[in-house]
Amino acid sequence: VDDFDVTALRMDFPILDKKVGGKPLIYFDNAATTQKPESVIKAMDDYYRSMNANVHRAAHTLSAQATDAFERARRHVAAFINSPFMEEIIWVRGTTEAINLVAATWGRANIQAGDRILLTEMEHHSNIVPWQLLAKEKGAEIIVLSVTDAGELDLTNLDSLLDQRVKLVALTHASNALGTRNPLEQIIEKAHSVGAKVLVDGAQAVAHWDIDVQSLNCDFYAFSGHKMYGPTGIGVLWGRRELLEQMPPYQSGGEMIKRVSFSDTSFNDLPYKFEAGTPNIAGATGMDAAINYLGKIDRQAVSQYEAGLLEYAIRKAADIPGINRVGTAKDSASIFSFTLKGVHPSDVGTILNQQGIAVRDGHHCAQPLMDRLNIPGTIRASFAFYNTFDEIDQFVEGLVKARSLLC
Ligand code: PMP
Repeated sequence: VDDFDVTALRMDFPILDKKVGGKPLIYFDNAATTQKPESVIKAMDDYYRSMNANVHRAAHTLSAQATDAFERARRHVAAFINSPFMEEIIWVRGTTEAINLVAATWGRANIQAGDRILLTEMEHHSNIVPWQLLAKEKGAEIIVLSVTDAGELDLTNLDSLLDQRVKLVALTHASNALGTRNPLEQIIEKAHSVGAKVLVDGAQAVAHWDIDVQSLNCDFYAFSGHKMYGPTGIGVLWGRRELLEQMPPYQSGGEMIKRVSFSDTSFNDLPYKFEAGTPNIAGATGMDAAINYLGKIDRQAVSQYEAGLLEYAIRKAADIPGINRVGTAKDSASIFSFTLKGVHPSDVGTILNQQGIAVRDGHHCAQPLMDRLNIPGTIRASFAFYNTFDEIDQFVEGLVKARSLLC
């Protein structure tokens, strides 16, 4: 992408100047968490320096300012994912909490003995375990859409798995272990045709692609701030208003109530019904800054540039004997996941780290996927728009070195 000024963008991210063990940091662990631009760091700093107060509670000026900032952030999140209503945006700690919230509320109220929950073989543990616990509690059954050798969903089985017993399909927008982007629209339409609701785990998608919950037509969409250049400890559950309204509350306490007496409690309106206790106000201001930052860069160009980085890494690494890319989907969240023949992934990670290169090795919280592919784990380089082709050259040199030391 000719007009993509990566040098200028890199200057927005203070950590990218850092040296690790005397070597310039090459940060290829973006699927775990992205780095933060100055504007996100500053927004949170400013919040604590000039605005800190509790929200929704007091008549005083600081509280009004904090409440305004907090609700403005919610409004911007709604626009960011094209949510029709601001009250459909529920603040949570991250994707994990968003999924747990749905399992504990919608799930408990709607899943009965004999019902089925359809997952896929490529889910992150956080989109498996909450459903497993719910299924055990209710006597429901987990069924699984399989993955092909190429690391893509095997849609040939979808029709036979989907019937009236399936009450929920919970699947990821993109695999955190392999990068594979899933054909959501097709799956959602089929799920709806048997009356199932669909929850999408968007943790790996929001940093890379524009998200439009209305055109996706899903029922729940979950994501984390820290994987889209925002802070840790804040994330979003989007849900359809009519579903959220029917759902019982999640955690309980302050903020989520209308009226409390010892005989009974009435619950607050959306979204506050699901937001018990003092929320992560600073986190919301940081998330707002991240959305604002992403709004200023051409996201189409970002997607193209990131795809270019992945293509380049695949091409360069193909020259190294013993490197085997795991998951070969064309449409990917810019993740290069691979094994090096005869070598444990963690040894490769250690040698790359000695050269300042941060990658992830292991099962990536997707053990069922690793079992399916019959590997203990992979080495995962996950790219963001602030990475460069030069960094990939150094990474490939690092791999050559790792191979000469380990093989
Ligand atoms: N789902 C996917 C696909 C992920 O990649 C992650 C984070 N690795 C999660 C869920 C959990 O996100 P968080 O840890 O931010 O709650």
